[in-house]
Amino acid sequence: MSNSRVGFGIDFHRLEEGRTLVLGGVKIQYDMGLLGHSDADVLTHALCDALLGAAGLGDIGVHFPDSDPRYREISSLELLKRVVELVANAGYHPVNADCVIIAQEPKLAPYFPAMKEALSPIIELPPDYIGLKATTSEKMGPLGRGEGISALSVCLIEKA
Ligand code: MG
Repeated sequence: MSNSRVGFGIDFHRLEEGRTLVLGGVKIQYDMGLLGHSDADVLTHALCDALLGAAGLGDIGVHFPDSDPRYREISSLELLKRVVELVANAGYHPVNADCVIIAQEPKLAPYFPAMKEALSPIIELPPDYIGLKATTSEKMGPLGRGEGISALSVCLIEKA
């Protein structure tokens, strides 16, 4: 059996006025933010699910149910930290991660260095082992109309 395992995560959150947009633990200048029980950091949630999936540990809904008041408005970086601990308890550590954010607006590339700096110590990887990319959906569908933002992530883990 291989010592490495790959996991995949995807998440969606709706954009609403009066919320702060947080992606990869970084506040983004925009006139809307993502709606959710936590800070709704869709990128970090996709990363969490990729890590949990790789370790065969289910998904973030299982570990941090949105019916639990303890997770209200919580920073998703805190959730990621706990996920990395769960993965470590299962005997694995992250090798690398690659992510795509699908957002019609705003332009996200200028924030990638800050996102990598924020995620790096928590996922315990150097910034250049965290791939971040952004695309629009070419104005197609709900994401293209700016109704929300989605993120996808793959993560490789190996036996510690
Ligand atoms: Mg989510």
